[in-house]
Amino acid sequence: MTNKRKKIDYFKDITLKRLREEVKEIKEALPEEKKNIITYSRNFTLSLSNYCINNCGYCYYNFRVPKYGANKNVILLGKDDVKKQVDEAIKHNCKEGLVMSGEKPDEFPEVRKELETRGFNNYIDYVQNICRYLLKFKILPHTNIGFLTYKQMKLLKNYNASMGLMLESTSKKLFNKGEVHEFSPGKTPKRRIKPLINAGKLKISFTTGLLLGIGENFEDRVKDLYLIKDIYDKYKHIQEVILQNFEYKNGISYNPAQPISMEKMLKITGVAKLIFKNDIAIQVPPNLIKGFEKSFIEMGINDFGGISPFSQDFINPEKEWPKIEYLSEILKKKRYFLKERLPIYEKYVNKKNFCPKNIRNIINSDFKS
Ligand code: SF4
Repeated sequence: MTNKRKKIDYFKDITLKRLREEVKEIKEALPEEKKNIITYSRNFTLSLSNYCINNCGYCYYNFRVPKYGANKNVILLGKDDVKKQVDEAIKHNCKEGLVMSGEKPDEFPEVRKELETRGFNNYIDYVQNICRYLLKFKILPHTNIGFLTYKQMKLLKNYNASMGLMLESTSKKLFNKGEVHEFSPGKTPKRRIKPLINAGKLKISFTTGLLLGIGENFEDRVKDLYLIKDIYDKYKHIQEVILQNFEYKNGISYNPAQPISMEKMLKITGVAKLIFKNDIAIQVPPNLIKGFEKSFIEMGINDFGGISPFSQDFINPEKEWPKIEYLSEILKKKRYFLKERLPIYEKYVNKKNFCPKNIRNIINSDFKS
């Protein structure tokens, strides 16, 4: 039996109480000043296009799903809308601009037509332009627009503080008939893993994560955490791993009888801490675990991710971001402190060949605490 196999079996049976104890021991190795800090990034989202080649069963964001309320489909975000949102971001002192879209929107003629009308050679050219615009106002871009080739990532690296792509799940079962990835050619394990490796080769500080409760089982989750750890061990570029629970929304096709429980979320969070130790930050979106913040902290999370003072969570629009003051208060009661961070983790800012020079200059001149 391999070491990993033994570990997976051990994790299957471990109680939450024992997990908490082991997590506590790992945290003991942290320097005193880091032990009680939970970070977040003050960000806003630019949703460039929700045209997407995939049709994941759990997705509300993509253009095929009818939108309600203020949410609208966007072929390609216009200059005026970008300006309006950047103005708002400046007013709210946001340091991070999350640049997101569906995967390969330029596969659709209506998006290509828009790109051509606005004088862009291709979609990456347009994304680069958006990132450059953000940098003009000292807002640090973090781009996550689905699968990209090595060449495309290289073209975006110099305009991004960090980049991201959720691994989600590499479970092949999810491609079976009636499962969530049946109509998502971009979600094959190969296409999800490759960008993580390429980010390592390109020295891009990177964010990835698992989407939980979409038909995968406990063993699938643990294997994916090990997969991320193996890639990290080779390139040392993964700054954080998001553990995101699926939430049902009106209009989507995936509707499990039971959403993933908070108990299962806590268990996989503790297991992630045992695997990543203090090397990779663990993040849970605070709008999806409201009321359980303390329990997740005990399981080793150290980050709440991007929290926007004005833009919505485009993936879970019905889940409002908590107020910074609310999180701060909750943490204070438990002797933890909420601390703002940038979209690139501190340890990568001066790490050789990681942070692009223009971005390091902004950080060193404007954001040095
Ligand atoms: S790839 Fe992302 S945007 Fe596209 S359908 Fe899947 S979850 Fe939605």
